[in-house]
Amino acid sequence: MNIVVCIKQVPDTKGGVKFNPDGTLDRAAMLAIMNPDDKAGLEAALRIKDETGAKVTVVTMGLPKADDMLREALAMGADEAVLITDRRLGGADTWATSSTIAAGLRNIDYDLIITGRQAIDGDTAQVGPQIAEHLGLPVISYAENIKVEGDSVVVQRQYEDRYHEIKAKMPCLITALSELNEPRYMTPGGIFDAFDKEVTVWGRDDLKDLDDANIGLAGSPTKIAKASDKVRKGAGEKVALDPKESVEYIVGKLKEKHVI
Ligand SMILES: Cc1cc2nc3c(=O)[nH]c(=O)nc-3n(C[C@H](O)[C@H](O)[C@H](O)COP(=O)(O)OP(=O)(O)OC[C@H]3O[C@@H](n4cnc5c(N)ncnc54)[C@H](O)[C@@H]3O)c2cc1C
Repeated sequence: MNIVVCIKQVPDTKGGVKFNPDGTLDRAAMLAIMNPDDKAGLEAALRIKDETGAKVTVVTMGLPKADDMLREALAMGADEAVLITDRRLGGADTWATSSTIAAGLRNIDYDLIITGRQAIDGDTAQVGPQIAEHLGLPVISYAENIKVEGDSVVVQRQYEDRYHEIKAKMPCLITALSELNEPRYMTPGGIFDAFDKEVTVWGRDDLKDLDDANIGLAGSPTKIAKASDKVRKGAGEKVALDPKESVEYIVGKLKEKHVI
């Protein structure tokens, strides 16, 4: 069984978000980490490998420095790693990103593809289902539990107050939630081996069935006009009033602020 996990290198926003003067993210100024949902997706794949002996391949599209993140995945237990990197692929929106990654996946044998539900920088949750669409695969999103049963997967799909259990024949694509599991740590031996392993590097010309009209900034129907950090407002005002008084109080405040 071949499992492919799409992992994205993202800025660690815990340390605060830094922007370039043109409003784009200043990624060089921020620590880069493996996207949390993707790490849970990788852990889920490694647990299936522990049980079934499956082969786990990690794939990323990004800057050459994403090599570090791929070696972290190898040190956690992934078997192979692929870096798709090329200046011509830069500035991609989700359409261009998913078109490019799907083209890379056509070069790899897969029974199961796992992506994160969402990346903590773009936050669109679009790439996973888009990849499935490009490859003509069924997709189960918001996975909080994954089991392999013969040639199928059984997934618990998260809802607010319940979950649905969905069974799908492989090949298929699943988007993972970080609630899925507690990812394992890299082992010292794993780190050692990871730096011996070769990371496969693909550029634009290694990607077949991919139209230039669908790559990079030029191939992106969505342009990020400007991104800015949200303005942190002061703490709200807490008042302890009975329901009737609360209504009068709120109406008074709304009038005071000329909202009504
Ligand atoms: C603040 C901000 C807002 C943006 N808004 C938009 C927007 O509204 N529309 C738009 O089209 N683009 C937008 N982008 C660009 C978008 O971030 C990029 O296209 C990005 O490559 C993919 O989208 P995402 O980060 O939302 O990923 P998501 O769709 O949230 O990612 C879901 C999963 O797909 C996989 N994945 C995503 N990117 C990669 C990768 N490069 N390599 C491997 N796996 C990957 C991961 O498993 C990830 O968990 C925005 C970027 C920023 C920084």
